[in-house]
Amino acid sequence: MNRKKSICLYLLLLIVIFIPLQQVNAASSLKIKYDGKMCYYSDKQLKATLDGSTINISKTPGILINGYAMLPYIDVFKKALGASCKYDAGKGTITIKQYNTTIILNIGSRTAYINGKKVLAPVASKKVYYYKTKITRVLVPSRFVAEALGYSYTWNSKTATVQIASPYQIYYDGQWRLYEGSKGTVVFDGESIDVSDMPVIILNSTALVPAKKVFSNSSLNLSYKNNTTANIITISNETTTIQYELGSLTAYVNDIPYTLTEAPKKVKDNVTKKSYVMVPAKFTAQSLGYTYLWDTTDKTCEITSQQEIPEAETAVWQWKSDSTELTDSSVYSNLLLSMTLSRENSQEVFTLEGINPIQANFNFNQDTNSISLSIVNLDNSFEAIDTVMDQSVCIKKLVVSKCENGSTKVSIELLSGTDYYISASGNAYTLNFSNSSASAVSTLELAKPENMDFNLITDEDQYYDKRFLIKIPGNQVAFYQEHEIINTSPQINNISYEYNVEDNVTNIIFATNSVQGYRLKNNTDSFLLEVAEPKYIYNNIVVFDPGHGGDDPGAIQNGYYESNLNFAILYTYLEQYMNLDESNVKAYWTRREESEFLSLSERAAFAEQVDADLFISLHMNAASSSTASGTEIYYSTLNNTTNSFGVTSKLLADYLIETLPNNLGLKSRGVKTANYVVVKSNSVPAVLIELGFMTNSGDLSKLTDSSFQDTVALELYQEINSFFELYPTNR
Ligand SMILES: [Zn+2]
Repeated sequence: MNRKKSICLYLLLLIVIFIPLQQVNAASSLKIKYDGKMCYYSDKQLKATLDGSTINISKTPGILINGYAMLPYIDVFKKALGASCKYDAGKGTITIKQYNTTIILNIGSRTAYINGKKVLAPVASKKVYYYKTKITRVLVPSRFVAEALGYSYTWNSKTATVQIASPYQIYYDGQWRLYEGSKGTVVFDGESIDVSDMPVIILNSTALVPAKKVFSNSSLNLSYKNNTTANIITISNETTTIQYELGSLTAYVNDIPYTLTEAPKKVKDNVTKKSYVMVPAKFTAQSLGYTYLWDTTDKTCEITSQQEIPEAETAVWQWKSDSTELTDSSVYSNLLLSMTLSRENSQEVFTLEGINPIQANFNFNQDTNSISLSIVNLDNSFEAIDTVMDQSVCIKKLVVSKCENGSTKVSIELLSGTDYYISASGNAYTLNFSNSSASAVSTLELAKPENMDFNLITDEDQYYDKRFLIKIPGNQVAFYQEHEIINTSPQINNISYEYNVEDNVTNIIFATNSVQGYRLKNNTDSFLLEVAEPKYIYNNIVVFDPGHGGDDPGAIQNGYYESNLNFAILYTYLEQYMNLDESNVKAYWTRREESEFLSLSERAAFAEQVDADLFISLHMNAASSSTASGTEIYYSTLNNTTNSFGVTSKLLADYLIETLPNNLGLKSRGVKTANYVVVKSNSVPAVLIELGFMTNSGDLSKLTDSSFQDTVALELYQEINSFFELYPTNR
């Protein structure tokens, strides 16, 4: 009895002493081993969440080292975030890869690599052994890794929790991708359309919108059909039917094929995880007769109902007299029966018809851009007219007064760009108008030789000779003499044909009045050639300017001429890349011959002639000291205004200095300002790159190496294409 009691008491003591002791230990300290030493870690034991959900690391909690939150990469980055992770025990490295980012961390060293670039991590990664759970984990600086992968990161010190939030990702073509572009909204006739589930995204400079939400389940209320077996999307109104195929760059508008800049596709994001069919907003809206505008500041697609503009000859505006007889033939000699403004294509015709031939005095006032007619002795059977011609592309305003002192005044205010001529026949007096700015793109029809494959037709832009060539296989000269191409384009001066025996190709040569953009489209029985100023044809335009040339060699070092190096990179190597089908950029060059000489102001002015979006001049540097090396990028503060798509010269310079020297293994000397003529006197964002120093032996051996020159060209090609993805012109 006594003995039993004492055992019980002993047990009780054990319980009383040990249980609370263990609890205290668990809460306050963690027995771990790292850097080869066992220790009791008594600081905060860290938890982690992803998008608000707990990441289970209770068996291997994170720890603070020098105030940095270290977390087990395998539980957090591999299992929870889904990054691909590789541990190399031999090298002591961890490679973490997701989206476009690869991070290499070193155990025991702060040296790390992000996409191959050497950086210092705040703390070295550590291998940690947890005694309690007998688990070894590699702990990594969590903020450093999470932010490098594009996640946002918050540290909640109260709850000792690392809160990680996913970056915006979109899924299409079988892959999740990090999306860092604009997330836009849609407005129709001033009212917003709810696209909160799936915002407007920009791919390849093209705004894509959820098709059904925007065009059908909205006040646009168009017919929307999704044939999920054929992957065909049909959007239509009474007159127009657009057919999209998911993943295809060809769309059909009323059965005529068009090439899109970005294919319609099924997209979901990681927020709602709902799939939406996305279509190009601008192409869809415009094809259906709406006006479309991308508001860069508000990131908004603005779709607006348009007054219908008839294509065939149609009365745009008309007035008709109630009476057909003179009220008083002793007073009036003529009666106005009708006034009609009609349109055929971009031509408008304003006709006054009387019961007798109309006698009018014509006068044009250049200051007010107005025509005034005073018509003799017209019957006053009509009410005075004062109307704004908002459906006309040629006339702004029409005012007709009643007859006073024997004459009726007709005043026609023209829109800018309107030309006119007068013709009269019978009882009709006609003013013929045309407005060149209203018909920016002209379309020519080319007959299609039998069984001609559209894909075999090539072209060559000889902008430097103000002409371009469409090249059709075989000898088609006789065919085109028989099926003459009617030149309805004001931009084309002359069309000629020549058969090139060597290439067995027929060149159709279009001589233009100035540098023109063009594109050929396939049609059922013909080809359609669209011609317009470059900005109406190409989304992104860049002028490249290889520095010096002709009599001006630039810097000379060891027998190398700067002008030759600039030319090799910026023309010889770059042209092949810019001409790739996948390039989204139309490139023009100021200088296309090594021996060609162009003045600096001619180079700067060329950017305006071709409607360039950017101007890039390439030079090589020289210094009295041979130690100076690396890349400098210049812009002029006198040409640094923000252009229509939000870009300045400085922004372009900053963008290029970030990547160019680094990716080419050159030292970055940063962005500088100078009033060089080619950048200062330019009308578009312009930079001058001094790529390297010819006076530095290290730089010179690179600059003169042809494979390095090729690499520079490729790098520039990629950077420029990416630039337009970041800063879409939205044309
Ligand atoms: Zn130079």
